[in-house]
Amino acid sequence: MHAEVLVLGAGPGGYSAAFRAADLGKKVVLVERWETLGGVCLNVGCIPSKALLHAAKVVDESQEMGEHGISFGAPAIDIDRLRGWKEGVVKRLTGGLSGLAKQRKVTVVRGTGQFLSLNQVEVQGPEGRKVVSFDQAIIAAGSEPVTLPFIPHDDPRVIDSTGALALDGVPERLLVLGGGIIGLEMATVYHALGAKVTVVELMDQIIPGADKDVVAPLMKRISRKYAAIYLRTKVTKVEATPEGLVAHFEGGSAPATGTYDKVLVAVGRRPNGRLIGAENAGVRVDERGFVPVDRQQRTNVPHIFAIGDIVGQPMLAHKAVHEAHVAAEVAAGHKAAFDAKVIPSVAYTDPEVAWVGLTENEAKAKGIKVGKGVFPWAASGRSLSLGRDEGMTKLLFDEATHRLLGCGIVGPNAGDLVAEAALAIEMGADAQDIALTIHPHPTLSETIGMAAEMFEGTITDLI
Ligand code: FAD
Repeated sequence: MHAEVLVLGAGPGGYSAAFRAADLGKKVVLVERWETLGGVCLNVGCIPSKALLHAAKVVDESQEMGEHGISFGAPAIDIDRLRGWKEGVVKRLTGGLSGLAKQRKVTVVRGTGQFLSLNQVEVQGPEGRKVVSFDQAIIAAGSEPVTLPFIPHDDPRVIDSTGALALDGVPERLLVLGGGIIGLEMATVYHALGAKVTVVELMDQIIPGADKDVVAPLMKRISRKYAAIYLRTKVTKVEATPEGLVAHFEGGSAPATGTYDKVLVAVGRRPNGRLIGAENAGVRVDERGFVPVDRQQRTNVPHIFAIGDIVGQPMLAHKAVHEAHVAAEVAAGHKAAFDAKVIPSVAYTDPEVAWVGLTENEAKAKGIKVGKGVFPWAASGRSLSLGRDEGMTKLLFDEATHRLLGCGIVGPNAGDLVAEAALAIEMGADAQDIALTIHPHPTLSETIGMAAEMFEGTITDLI
């Protein structure tokens, strides 16, 4: 079998690259070891987690409406139906991808691919061994959860994000190891389903990538709800005992040990660079397993490209898709380069935390002088009418030019709202551009206009 463009891995990076290359007239072979297309994001990441987070939000909101005059009974959770619904959402999307691949005549070869040489990949799959030769290749083999040497990962009570999304029952006591986006999203789900959740985080704040003030409303809310959140705390060991998993803590305000029914390890993801036989093609893989690339997504071997989680941080689906388009276009002879100024990040917790561009922490560390406009959602009529007042929109502007450099938002739907700031940064918008843009009232998007007005000093009363 021969491919003009061979794509290794069918996650958001891989399928986007394959589809774009096919649209540009290339004969494409897409190699994927899993039964369905879509990679981590569709099968065991972005999509199933968001389905379960929606269910969690419905549970939480129905309970909180009691304070505003409408009471519902305690939720009756049918875990099998919930799992079935989540699986249905995933199936619809992965099935849709298969259809799109067929439409474009992308040949999908199922199996694990390894480079054999500069122009060949060997695929070991359910139908045996196949060798696919290629003119150009795009590596999109993604990443996998980090494991820790002092945790008994072979104990079924120790789970990673994939295990958590499998929704194999709800533990009474859940320890979430890692207060980053994935850990906190899963904590949100399991708390709503009835688990007593403890979160342990090594750093001095949850979601360490975002500014502390942006994360503070989330911290406040979950501190009230969860059994405990231990910051500046290390887990040194987890012991498997018949009574439960005993975690040993060091530092922070944590006790010496705690016993849990399940431990979710969510301490990050590592790239799959060492699992693809890259050395046989002469493709450089760094010491952490990332495949270094240039702005055209080319590896050190000019006809082999790499995209997505395997090339570096941030490990996000939308970054993978944009890199995929660049790689496919360059492979098809077009002039393209990855030129994004910023890549937004979102934690789909409740409240959501979203940020894009420069954070205040980064501005300080880099000595960049910024001015800020902060709009508290306690003054947003829309936020109050959602029964929520803890949100905040913060814009960071270049002190000299007043151009937008960064944005942090916390509150319901922050993830949707941050897209406006990403566009503003890409377009080089300044505070006046944003303040003079008429935002619909009453919406949460107004808080972006108002934050710009706060910076400009032209704020008007608006509720
Ligand atoms: P992947 O999606 O990892 O896909 C790689 C594919 O390559 C896989 O299908 C794998 O089976 C295949 N593969 C690997 N090696 C081989 C081989 N040798 N042969 C054949 N096939 C191979 N990102 C967001 O932007 N938003 C979110 O809300 C979000 N939520 C997440 C929630 C969770 C729980 C997790 C775990 C991740 C989440 N992410 C989210 C991250 C997102 O899933 C990844 O950034 C994205 O999937 C990366 O895409 P990719 O194409 O680089 O690789």
